[in-house]
Amino acid sequence: MPAHLRRLVVVGGGIAGVCCAEELCKLCADDPVLLVSASSTIKGVDNIVKHTKTVEEFEIVERDLNTLPYSNLQVLQAAAVGIDVEKHNLILEDGTKIAYDSLCIAAGAVPKAPLVSTAHVLMLRDSGSIQELSHRLRSAKRVMIVGNGGIALELAQSLQGYEIIWVMRHSHIGDAFFDRDAAEYLLGQLRGPETASRSILPTEGSWRSRAPDRAARHYASEQQLSSWCCRTDGEEQHAKAPSGLPTCAGLGHVTLEHDCEVTSIKEGLSPADSLQEGHPRVQVLLSNGHRHAADLVVFATGVVPNTGWLPPELERGPADGGVAVDASMQSSVPGIYAAGDCCWVRPEARGPQWFQMRLWTQARAQGLYVAKCMSGTADPLELGLPFELFTHVTRFCGQKVVLLGLYNGQRLGSEPPGDIVTYARTLAGKAGNSFARVLLLRGRLQGAVLLGETELEETFENLILDGIDLSRYGPEFMDPDIDLQEVFD
Ligand code: FAD
Repeated sequence: MPAHLRRLVVVGGGIAGVCCAEELCKLCADDPVLLVSASSTIKGVDNIVKHTKTVEEFEIVERDLNTLPYSNLQVLQAAAVGIDVEKHNLILEDGTKIAYDSLCIAAGAVPKAPLVSTAHVLMLRDSGSIQELSHRLRSAKRVMIVGNGGIALELAQSLQGYEIIWVMRHSHIGDAFFDRDAAEYLLGQLRGPETASRSILPTEGSWRSRAPDRAARHYASEQQLSSWCCRTDGEEQHAKAPSGLPTCAGLGHVTLEHDCEVTSIKEGLSPADSLQEGHPRVQVLLSNGHRHAADLVVFATGVVPNTGWLPPELERGPADGGVAVDASMQSSVPGIYAAGDCCWVRPEARGPQWFQMRLWTQARAQGLYVAKCMSGTADPLELGLPFELFTHVTRFCGQKVVLLGLYNGQRLGSEPPGDIVTYARTLAGKAGNSFARVLLLRGRLQGAVLLGETELEETFENLILDGIDLSRYGPEFMDPDIDLQEVFD
């Protein structure tokens, strides 16, 4: 190989690795790019819809390893087991050494709980396990979901017609994404429009009388510091069914077991516990003493960075062992970069309204950006751009969910509670129901949760990035009769 060319190597065929490899092929058309992936398929993105400058929605597609159309790209299906950082070699499981000048580690994450999947217990960790799930669901009637992150949320809404027992450590659904108000709104949507408009949504026009009250309630609870993350207590609990547990009619039958964990799983049930003849069964004991029989237990309890195979020279993040990277996604070893679920972004690289959450959006943004950093084509003005503002778009119960900035008060735990205000509004209109909640710190917008078609994302994105003082508006800021776009453009 001519001496002036660089050997660019990427480990991982997930979104981060594939976005990085594709971008490298474009930016460095003469340099050889090698993508090493343990899996036989690779992930890519398709149907990208750009809602705002930083808010994107897209679909994840799986492709065969050899379908990437770049003449300077070579794809190798193999597992990497180590790196010789002195000699700049990536080591594969068959002992092969691959020399690199620049290396990107995008090896993703592995399930947090070391539980082993059995005939009646399944760990959700990737698209392969999702396929396994759909297979096992065919013989199940009662399914227990364990976990409360995005995966558990998606699963709960997609299991229509099943009897669901949903076990979570938190006090309300979707703790990773939503506070109590947003969660209640979504539960209302699950229960169906009739219940939703009765129990949650004020009718159109009732916002004016409701807003100050809401604002006051939020404000009061903020005095208890970080309680706007909404731990349950007293009367703020969900309305309860006679069994003591809420049910969601829109989902079939759902039993929520919150503030608890799975203590043990016993395979095989006594005839008295039988659900239905011929079905596989387990009995699950929870930390609150409740017992449940189920046909299938699905764990969606989160992941940790897949970095166990990496050498100690690469500094790790303190919380979860992700490869520590700086604003240019470089690790503590020059020439070695990391992106996606396996990395940990150093605090000094994070913008004030960004935090790390292991999501497709961040994997894609980091994959594209790390390629620029590796190729040396990143504009100095672009430095740290993917870490400027947290954004995520997803769908829940068919509703658009947009999360912006510090929407749930992430990173604001040390701020005086009196400096933080949240305002929320729910609207039921002909165009559909919607919910919006904003969080302000000393009058400046820090984050927002937008459920349904609110059309507020661009305005709020700009207000967060521009840091405009909004104190003088008070709760009127959320008045649906005020055209914020017009006011602030
Ligand atoms: P991955 O997609 O995990 O890819 C890692 C790649 O590295 C794989 O190709 C793997 O084979 C390869 N690899 C690993 N180790 C090695 C090795 N030693 N050598 C060679 N190759 C290796 N996020 C969302 O935003 N929305 C969702 O709805 C959503 N749903 C999810 C559902 C499930 C079940 C799970 C588990 C996660 C979900 N996520 C979701 C999170 C999202 O999938 C991840 O944040 C994202 O895929 C991370 O991309 P990545 O490229 O960093 O890692």
